[in-house]
Amino acid sequence: MAAEQEDRFAAAREALRHDSPLWTIQHLDITCDGCETEPIVGHRYKCCVCEDIDLCGACMRALVAARVKMSQEAAPRPAPPRQGGRPRRWVAKLHSRDLAEKWAALQTAVPCLHPSHKFQKVLEGPERAVVFTAGQNAGSAGSSGSSAAEASPGAGGKEQQQQGQQADAAAAALAAVSLQEGSSDAAAAAGSAQLSDSDQLEDFLATFRPSACSCSDVAWLVVEVGSSSGGGSTQPAGSSGAGSAGGSSGSGSSSSTRATEAGASLEERVDAAVEEWEKLAASGRKLAAADVDRLAAEHRITKGKWMLFARSGEEADAAWPAVARAVCGAAAGAGQPAAAPLCGSAKVSSTAPPPDNSHVFCCYVENYQDAADVQRVCRGLQRAVPAGLLQDKRLLFKPDIYTYLGIYSRNEWGIKPSTHEARLL
Ligand SMILES: [Zn+2]
Ligand SMILES: [Zn+2]
Repeated sequence: MAAEQEDRFAAAREALRHDSPLWTIQHLDITCDGCETEPIVGHRYKCCVCEDIDLCGACMRALVAARVKMSQEAAPRPAPPRQGGRPRRWVAKLHSRDLAEKWAALQTAVPCLHPSHKFQKVLEGPERAVVFTAGQNAGSAGSSGSSAAEASPGAGGKEQQQQGQQADAAAAALAAVSLQEGSSDAAAAAGSAQLSDSDQLEDFLATFRPSACSCSDVAWLVVEVGSSSGGGSTQPAGSSGAGSAGGSSGSGSSSSTRATEAGASLEERVDAAVEEWEKLAASGRKLAAADVDRLAAEHRITKGKWMLFARSGEEADAAWPAVARAVCGAAAGAGQPAAAPLCGSAKVSSTAPPPDNSHVFCCYVENYQDAADVQRVCRGLQRAVPAGLLQDKRLLFKPDIYTYLGIYSRNEWGIKPSTHEARLL
């Protein structure tokens, strides 16, 4: 049985060992403590000493470079042999107290700078996802640039400024792609690119089927449209551009505006909301869904998802392509027309250890308080997923903040854990 399972997962596992322009590995809900990017895309490194410090690949390289610099400057090597009797003045410079003090101060501020803080690459875990980004592969070298830089192991020693420029370039490329997707005028011009994008989606779906991926390798299969920051609602109108730009600039400029609410990372906003919720709960007042809604709006934690449920790997394999094509706006089959993307992203869980055969699907909506948009995505899923594919016909909607606040079924506040319900047709 175990060997059988291994065989079933071998192809996907092999695919995951190699970099691909088709997909990225992302660490969902994990924020890089160096640059505050969320989620971490590509390699993720965890400090083995600190409790909760994660770094992206670029920040790990920056840390390693800083350690090298520190070891050269603060702990000088023995003086090299004199040449021609001239004193080596730079050696004296290395003994300067100023440098030692500078590094000591930096180490206090950044404990992980110390070499004793070993970092380990995270190769498994419930946050790991393999992500296909629609639009990103449509022929533009710029849009794939960020993942290529991330994947190349030799690109060490980048300065912070360069990282920033890279991130800006990547954000600009993504914005250009989503604008192109959004505009119906551009759609005709981009027709061939869109076709190849849809072919690439099919490749992705064939490579990673829910029943053929083990949760120990990758816990989620994800398709998304445009920016991974999730800032963009993907409605095919120019108006979504503003929302999208706002979302991505939030993560892009976070280092400079970290302290302010506007630039706070998702992690910080969630912490603030949880703290406020706990205070409210402690006050003894009866709490209701409206209190959650107010916190969600205040702290900008408005993402939510429609959930579908598969009872077997076979069901998940049948329904996932339908969901993925709808989300990306890809044609549902040969000869069928492409459509507007349904929503920003969707994911399906991979195969859990036996005896659990179930898989869950999540289809994300940017603002759960936008009831019309929530209903629009629901209707899109009802159209895309024939009821015959899944034994469990339920569609349940749950705002992300419910998860963050611990509002599950039979919660102590008597709040209904799903805000909308529907059924497959
Ligand atoms: Zn980082
Ligand atoms: Zn550390």
